[in-house]
Amino acid sequence: MIQQTMDLISQLDPEVGASIREEFARECRNIELIASENLVSEAVMLTMGTCLTNKYAEGYPGRRYYGGCYAVDITEEIARQRACQLFGCKYANVQPHSGANANLAAFFALVQPGDTVLGMDLAHGGHLSHGSPVNISGKYFHIVPYGVSDDTETIDYDALLETARACRPKLIVCGASAYPRTIDFARFRAVADEVGAYLMVDMAHIAGLVAAGVHPSPLPYADVVTTTTHKTLRGPRGGMILCNDEAIYKKINSAVFPGTQGGPLEHIIAAKAVCLGEALKPEFQAYGRQVVKNAAVLAEELVKQGFRLVSGGTDNHLCLVDVRNFHITGKEFERRLDEVQITANKNAIPNDPETPFVTSGIRVGTPAVTSRGFKEPEMVKIARWLAMVARDFEGCRDQVRREVDALCQAFPIYQ
Ligand SMILES: *Cc1c(COP(=O)(O)O)cnc(C)c1O
Repeated sequence: MIQQTMDLISQLDPEVGASIREEFARECRNIELIASENLVSEAVMLTMGTCLTNKYAEGYPGRRYYGGCYAVDITEEIARQRACQLFGCKYANVQPHSGANANLAAFFALVQPGDTVLGMDLAHGGHLSHGSPVNISGKYFHIVPYGVSDDTETIDYDALLETARACRPKLIVCGASAYPRTIDFARFRAVADEVGAYLMVDMAHIAGLVAAGVHPSPLPYADVVTTTTHKTLRGPRGGMILCNDEAIYKKINSAVFPGTQGGPLEHIIAAKAVCLGEALKPEFQAYGRQVVKNAAVLAEELVKQGFRLVSGGTDNHLCLVDVRNFHITGKEFERRLDEVQITANKNAIPNDPETPFVTSGIRVGTPAVTSRGFKEPEMVKIARWLAMVARDFEGCRDQVRREVDALCQAFPIYQ
């Protein structure tokens, strides 16, 4: 199906068709270790390319600002109901175009410009949209950062409480993009309660693990949960906001539309519905368990190969690897891996002596390779290749590239 779709696009628009084919070839031949990426099902991919893109549907199911919305009302309602069923909550807004948009809407619903917000430091694993000075969240709100402790490199909950007591935030934002450990949502709730703050959990990276039951759910603790749908959840590129309180839900709805967005992407919302339907099946729990198992094996093997892992290991789908034992930078390591068809991203480690553009680390995750069918034996191979590339690149480049090619051919995507 995917091949036929590409053939058709190439006939209709050869230039764009060629670039899509180029990307498809890359995805086929590369080992994808970017922790925020995944491979969606054919059902999800095909749903995105449907006539639903033609429809304007500003507003919400049953109360739109345009006529002719009866069909997209049904798809959006299915997406909302499945989101609530999957995550065990009362309310879901499935319209955010992305994770950053979901966060912007949540800020707009919960706080006023100038209010104090506690957010995890980008340099300690947080996300740009949690208060970075270059993001709108950092420009419109008074952000106070928190982070990990120097010795354990895990979230310093005691320091978080002290910071919260000192600055009395209106909102605490919990969630990360490069944090390999289980997050203790109950402790965040306790801190929020003590200082009278809202608690927002951004589970973008771990939503699929939460859905599969292999990471605790934030829903019992958070006032608002935001997420992306395209990372471990394995859906279309997009966002979602969940909550249990009706008054907060109303504020969230107004903050998404008309607050920060216009018409919803109903073709993407339909694909979110398909993805959520898949995540409700037992096969998805097996996938989630394998993602975590694969990451644990990858972590163990990387340590055996001589790498140091931030926090000493992983509980979830990713490892943050300190590459300084091999006397290279994250930037150089990322470039070398590209040459042997392994895709990863350089990533700052806590207290990184290098700049964010160079870094001393890389982030590696297992969602995409797990979706491709890789299991424990393939993780052992990947760890060995990473060490070879870090240790003696010139000496091993051709051999590693050949072996990567062979493995990728043995695990085809979208047959
Ligand atoms: C990826 C991510 C986002 C942003 O998602 P986009 O869809 O790229 O806007 C927000 N928060 C966290 C924690 C993320 O990891």
